[in-house]
Amino acid sequence: MNEIRDILKTMEYGPAPEDGSHVKTWLENHGRKIGHFINGRFVFPEKSKSFGCSNPGNGEKLAKIALGSKADVDSAAKAAAKAFKSWSALSGTQRARHLYAIARLVQKHARFLSVLETVDNGKPIRETRDLDIPLVARHFYHHAGWAELIDSEFAGCVPAGVCGQVIPWNFPLLMLAWKVAPALAAGCTVVLKPAEYTPLSAYAFAEICNEAGLPPGVFNLVNGDGSTGAAIVAHDAFDKIAFTGSTEVGRILRKQTAGSGKKLSLELGGKSPFIVYSQADIDAAVEGVVDAIWFNQGEVCCAGSRAIVQEGIADKFHDKLKARMEKLRMGDPLDKAIDIGAVVDPIQIENIEARVAEGKASGAQCWQPSWAGKQKPNAGCYYPPTLFTGVEPSSRLAQEEVFGPVIASMTFRTPGEAIELANNSRYGLAASVWSQNLDVAFDCARSLKAGIVWINSTNLFDAAAGFGGYRESGFGREGGREGMYEYLVPAWLKDAKKLPAAKPVPTPLPAPEAAGDGGIDRTMKMYVGGKQARPDTGYSYPVLDGKRKPVSQAGFGNRKDIRNAVEAANAASGWASMTGHQRAQVLYFLAENLEARADEFAGRLVRIDGDTKAGAKKQVGASVARIIHYAAWADKYDGAVRAPMANMLSLALNEPWGTMAISCPDDAPLLSFVSLVLPAIAMGNCVVVTPSQTNPLVIGDFYQVLDTSDVPGGVINIVTGERDALAGDMAKHDDIACHWYFGSAEGSKAVEEHSAGNLKATWVNNGKACDWYSLTQAQGREFLRHAVQIKTIWTPFGV
Ligand code: NAD
Ligand code: MN
Repeated sequence: MNEIRDILKTMEYGPAPEDGSHVKTWLENHGRKIGHFINGRFVFPEKSKSFGCSNPGNGEKLAKIALGSKADVDSAAKAAAKAFKSWSALSGTQRARHLYAIARLVQKHARFLSVLETVDNGKPIRETRDLDIPLVARHFYHHAGWAELIDSEFAGCVPAGVCGQVIPWNFPLLMLAWKVAPALAAGCTVVLKPAEYTPLSAYAFAEICNEAGLPPGVFNLVNGDGSTGAAIVAHDAFDKIAFTGSTEVGRILRKQTAGSGKKLSLELGGKSPFIVYSQADIDAAVEGVVDAIWFNQGEVCCAGSRAIVQEGIADKFHDKLKARMEKLRMGDPLDKAIDIGAVVDPIQIENIEARVAEGKASGAQCWQPSWAGKQKPNAGCYYPPTLFTGVEPSSRLAQEEVFGPVIASMTFRTPGEAIELANNSRYGLAASVWSQNLDVAFDCARSLKAGIVWINSTNLFDAAAGFGGYRESGFGREGGREGMYEYLVPAWLKDAKKLPAAKPVPTPLPAPEAAGDGGIDRTMKMYVGGKQARPDTGYSYPVLDGKRKPVSQAGFGNRKDIRNAVEAANAASGWASMTGHQRAQVLYFLAENLEARADEFAGRLVRIDGDTKAGAKKQVGASVARIIHYAAWADKYDGAVRAPMANMLSLALNEPWGTMAISCPDDAPLLSFVSLVLPAIAMGNCVVVTPSQTNPLVIGDFYQVLDTSDVPGGVINIVTGERDALAGDMAKHDDIACHWYFGSAEGSKAVEEHSAGNLKATWVNNGKACDWYSLTQAQGREFLRHAVQIKTIWTPFGV
């Protein structure tokens, strides 16, 4: 009975369904067949394979979707390659107009797009209407701005080229916007593949492109599954691949694109901590959990899926959380008063159920609201909010993504323990930190290995704030200035020449105890942890002069030497905590001491590389200048402060990677070494370096200068030997977070391939030459950018 009196008794919500009829009409008008969008035309190839797409909210079949073949990918790639010429030739202002037009149309069709997204994905209309679609428009506006500003703000850069983009199903149109908007702003053209569960909004977006008058071929859409995605990644028309999805597939893509010269960005999974300190505003934190893990049914890569709660408040916190869970409303995603909609597919429900069963078997306590299981709104895929307490930090529930509305909670005693627990993960996407004590909150934010940290907040996004992970959550950023660089390359690189083949390292010999007579210098040792070290092999290799005559020997390093060097680098992390000013002072002193010994260094270069005296002097002079250049930068390569929301700041903080590997080329052995090592250490990294394999001796002289310049032991570790063999060992090492390789094309490929293990970031030259004397090519912001990873910290700024 719907008497007002009765309603007031229960205060139950009545149904508040959003009208789905426009979407129904749209689907009918398309004959419920959704194909591709290639070169400005909608096509459903006659003999195409297809697959079904349904509404997870009620199981209803929505449409038949074309499954893109290699041939479909090929025609889309050709269209994008053709369009690239004219699109990249437009002025930034002209491209900005197109992006602006798209943004306007997204707003105009906002209600339709929200319903379409909800129907296809199962997420509540409240979220698509208030979050997904407004953020899509926001992304196109923001990037219309970058297109307008591109000449002044990204001087010296050109578009990366033709882009292949593959996205997941959890935020279908938003992930499209994150990928397409920066690409088009930069002057790139695109072939995009949506996820198989959620192809509809991308198709509607293609219609918007047509409506906006975007030139044909600039945006192309190929529907399909993993095989279609793989065909995109393999196609050689692409200069850049951008991917969001599972870490498993990300790793496949890293290997598949190795050596291809394609730029790659990966936004992968996470197991993000949600840390609640005893000084937290508990009610706010409870509401935070709702947004962290029950937003989008927990199908969020940065979901706060691991609660880490201080022991003293844990019971109170869990009790309040349970009370709140009891009140969450799950049901028809089109109902405007629903908190939790449908999970994307029955298969996902099976996955979640299996993971929950496993969690129960592991001994953790599972709690669901009393209404769970009793309420089956319709034939859809629903899973109730679920809380596990007493979770073992090492259990699968605490370590691996569930990608569903399931949170695993554990407790800690001291702030140090909280950080340890939070960082005990192979992932590093996001984190949420709750404490009214800002000292505690910021200390935690700083110590977390995560690309995004939300202080007293969670799951906030904006086009101006970079998004992306540390560790196995991938590399590259989306959004903000940093996101634009993913679609740009230095202009000079486009016509860089191939590096000549390296001279092989002569056969190693057992090291002589103490040579030094008869014109032969003593054997150069390695330099690890601030001390000279003998090679593990006990072997050395002859270093030859310009006439291929042996003049000395250098240690022949192996995997064990790399391991020791990495350990020494890890132990020297105090370097990162020094201020930029303190590091600058050390670097200036280093330049001064090198300059004092300039003649000696020049002599070495003449003797071994057969340089002319003038040439050698020039190299030493340029090396001194380069050190000074990075000493200057050490306290100036700033991040950014942004104000994307009222009362919130987002800070883009440049953080060192930690331990980096650097493989130096053979040419200009002192200058190239300095050009690569200095930006890395100026930013606070510790490095494991292999110097030129043909002339390591000049670096042997250099570490003597390090000793006299207050560079702390372990900041620069030098292992001599065969570049490519050692590069392989470094690329495979799990404690190295980033690897720069400047050598052959094959060596570049091997580094990228082996980096897939821990998904370390790589920067390789693909066998291309760099003019180490050129101030455009060999120094400046490009090097600093690769020497840091950006952590985005969101913090309240006022109430
Ligand atoms: P997925 O990685 O399998 O798929 C993501 C996209 O990649 C889809 O478009 C898919 O068709 C495509 N793809 C699959 N195999 C490919 C291949 N070999 N080459 C190229 N493209 C390929 O992820 P999923 O199936 O959507 O979800 C599986 C798991 O991934 C989830 O349970 C979750 O753990 C994770 N996930 C993460 C995110 C995120 O934003 N980081 C998003 C969705 C899913
Ligand atoms: Mn669907």
